[in-house]
Amino acid sequence: MAEVRAPASLEPRVLVLGGTSEARELAGLLVDAGVPVTTSLAGRVARPRLPVGEVRIGGFGGVDGLRAALGEYDVVVDATHPFATGMSANAAAACPAEGVPLLRLERPGWADRSQASWTWVDTHEQAATAAADLGDRPFLTVGRQELARFVPALAERGVLARVVDPPDIELPPAWTLVTSRGPYTLPGELDLMRGHGTDVLVTKDSGGSYTWPKLEAAAELGLPVVVVRRAAGADGVETVADVAAAVDWVTALSGKAVSRRRGPGSGSAPARPRPRA
Ligand code: NAP
Repeated sequence: MAEVRAPASLEPRVLVLGGTSEARELAGLLVDAGVPVTTSLAGRVARPRLPVGEVRIGGFGGVDGLRAALGEYDVVVDATHPFATGMSANAAAACPAEGVPLLRLERPGWADRSQASWTWVDTHEQAATAAADLGDRPFLTVGRQELARFVPALAERGVLARVVDPPDIELPPAWTLVTSRGPYTLPGELDLMRGHGTDVLVTKDSGGSYTWPKLEAAAELGLPVVVVRRAAGADGVETVADVAAAVDWVTALSGKAVSRRRGPGSGSAPARPRPRA
């Protein structure tokens, strides 16, 4: 493991691994403060909501590709989605190897708000089986990349699948696809679920408030919910739960004051900055 290198200047070049609302918010705050920020997007979404600052799109080419790219940056904030485990694992391998400080920004999950009507599972295949046991008209809100994993158990069911962009696979004829993106509202979610006759909701433990109304709607309608647990994060990566704490971490490294306008749902303790070399 390389020694952690100190940022070259008082304005460290920050690479934000993005694809989340938190990543966009963080880029906005840092850019406002004059900190040079590049946000990296995977390029999965046809029309992504772009953050301010520099944006690069597309994979780096695994750990080696990311290591090569890190020459352009002084610090990395991994603000990818809690289920984007491949990118996070690559960052956890590449950054220490290059001596680049890495912070993981990961919003808390929903375990604290779990209810008796929620069934927690470890995989999407288990979620499919659980949904098949619990209902005939599941509402799948797991993202288009996961839909194939639900087909074997639910091909004959009246599935409603909601995605941002259409999936690459052909869906069973009994399924209905809706394309939209959050944030969502409780009245909207109630309308959608009632209109479809949803009898079980399936979700990842994404956390945050953008997609929380579907869980409120399920509770109001008395529906069971199947929740896919998050995988454990990489060991030894300093992690904070909100954008304000990530701003503190970058500020501590840059010596530059960044205004911390707290967004909804924030409020975790400030990060402890990683010791500088
Ligand atoms: P993943 O499985 O963790 O990553 C697979 C590969 O995609 C990575 O190895 C990397 O390719 C590339 N990649 C992922 N995120 C990237 C980024 N921010 N910048 C550049 N390359 C990236 O990722 P995923 O689950 O497919 O998610 C893709 C993106 O969508 C992420 O940025 C994530 O924040 C966002 N997102 C994911 C979900 C979800 O449920 N998974 C939900 C909402 C948003 P290389 O190895 O070639 O570098």
